[in-house]
Amino acid sequence: MTRIDGHTYLIGLMAYPIRHSMSPTMHNTAFEALDLNFAYLAFDVDTPDLPDAIKAIKTLDMRGSNISMPNKQAIIPYLDKLDISAQMNQAVNTVVNDNGILTGYTTDGIGFVNDLKKKGHDVAGKKMVVIGAGGAGTPIATQSALDGLSEIRIFNRQDDRFENAKKTVALINEQTDCQASLHDLADQDDLKESLAWADIFCDATGAGMKPLEDLSLVTDPTWLKPDLVVYDTVYAPRQTKLMKIAKDAGVQNVYNGLGMMIEQGAASFKLWTGQDMPIELVQAAIE
Ligand code: NAD
Repeated sequence: MTRIDGHTYLIGLMAYPIRHSMSPTMHNTAFEALDLNFAYLAFDVDTPDLPDAIKAIKTLDMRGSNISMPNKQAIIPYLDKLDISAQMNQAVNTVVNDNGILTGYTTDGIGFVNDLKKKGHDVAGKKMVVIGAGGAGTPIATQSALDGLSEIRIFNRQDDRFENAKKTVALINEQTDCQASLHDLADQDDLKESLAWADIFCDATGAGMKPLEDLSLVTDPTWLKPDLVVYDTVYAPRQTKLMKIAKDAGVQNVYNGLGMMIEQGAASFKLWTGQDMPIELVQAAIE
């Protein structure tokens, strides 16, 4: 850590619990590789301590911070500005401090869109089905809409996220050229027809991840046509039940969420430093 000196700028990660996060390894690997004078540290910050922690960003002249649960919504009143990505999600995962002005962004959706683009799939002009309308599904839907997706059908079960999805659909229809609609996941005929209609299918639920590693929300392989792009936001395990069903069905383009996770970090990194994160190096550091 010889690169840390009196001129080093601090970037934080404020969430609770957070000590398991891969973000410090990702960002510090990139700072070192590019010889940038920043250090990234994780801080256990629960919502009651959030006002003090945000004040510290200004007091300590930190460059910014990542924000994760349970603070993604709670932070909004303490920020000076919200980027469109944060406005559309009513959530923030990245704060940038420009001379005492704190701006909030959400880079998860940017991470999804950029990962797909690097894999050869531009969302512009495409039709997408997303299952899930939580912390991952919402920014995936809104950013894809902002980036030119033509139509999106959001499926969710009848839980509290269904109400959230109603707001997301309204915002997309009001603020973008994308046509959005909300669908009940219990309507399996609708899901089957929608998967036949779509170019891209994204599962943004906890299905496929512990403790639901044996669950796929699509079980009939004939619902997944070979040219559908299938994207599971889960990255542990690297191959989920849905991904296996899709591959067995002959789907050519099947991805886990590791690329999205790295690309959301790269988008935050760019906001803080103005530089492109060395993706391959970072990926090797966390694998
Ligand atoms: P969340 O709790 O905010 O939302 C979960 C969503 O999944 C809700 O819409 C809920 O209705 C739905 N859901 C959950 N269990 C379900 C089930 N059994 N059947 C049907 N629907 C179900 O969670 P989140 O933060 O949105 O995370 C969702 C997934 O995305 C997780 O697997 C998480 O690991 C992954 N994720 C990946 C990245 C990445 O960068 N790759 C980032 C964030 C989250």
